[in-house]
Amino acid sequence: MSLDKVVLVTGGNRGIGRAIAERFVSTGYTKVAVTARSGEGPAGTLTVPADVTDAASLDAAFTEIEATLGAVEIVVANAGITRDTLLLRMSEQDFDDVVATNLGGTFRVVKRAAKGLLKARWGRVILISSVVGLYGSAGQINYSSSKAALVGFARSLTRELGGRGITANVVAPGFIETDMTAELPEATQAEYKKNIPAGRFASADEVAGVVTWLASDDAAYISGAVIPVDGGLGMGH
Ligand code: NDP
Repeated sequence: MSLDKVVLVTGGNRGIGRAIAERFVSTGYTKVAVTARSGEGPAGTLTVPADVTDAASLDAAFTEIEATLGAVEIVVANAGITRDTLLLRMSEQDFDDVVATNLGGTFRVVKRAAKGLLKARWGRVILISSVVGLYGSAGQINYSSSKAALVGFARSLTRELGGRGITANVVAPGFIETDMTAELPEATQAEYKKNIPAGRFASADEVAGVVTWLASDDAAYISGAVIPVDGGLGMGH
């Protein structure tokens, strides 16, 4: 395994992104960068400030990483938000903000990274989607649409860049214990749990292990795949 590849995880200051960055470091990767709007990434990472809705701030972040660690080779597009409410109450702003972060942010990050991946003729693009992208979720029209779109994104990228040693895959977590899910009402959490065959929620580290595996040589022939990490919640989707 090439542990000297340059890794970038967006939103690496907390939640799933932080656990992913921690797992890259504990696996032995020596060049791990995270973006953060606030706070810091875990020990052993380079933290660069960036807002994924802002191409200029991302460009500055990449430039700093390139100067310090080298060109990014493993991109984990993780930063994401929710603005949950039922369709009839959902404002255009609620819709646009979520799409601009979850889908637009992924576009901006991957586009900025692509030149370097093409030059290296090697790359791993890993997009953090969600089980609700394909399963659907009442109150999450904006969020589930933005997450479903990542499947088309990864598959189109696979068709564009798959011949250049670059893979693009989607990881679709189910219910992971982070700040994002802590916001959900108790009743919603209980409802989810009833429907999860594993009968429990997961830790962010259980997502992280799948991401580092997708980045490894063992996953070199996997591209355009959607890997669920959901305890069976979304089976068949
Ligand atoms: P958190 O809310 O705990 O963390 C979200 C992260 O994204 C934070 O680091 C946050 O930065 C960052 N972020 C949000 N907006 C922006 C932005 N505009 N620019 C840069 N960074 C931004 O979420 P999770 O860790 O739970 O979720 C991480 C990913 O996993 C998301 O894409 C989410 O949709 C997905 N996911 C989560 C699931 C769960 O059950 N928790 C299930 C399925 C998918 P800051 O601290 O500055 O706000």
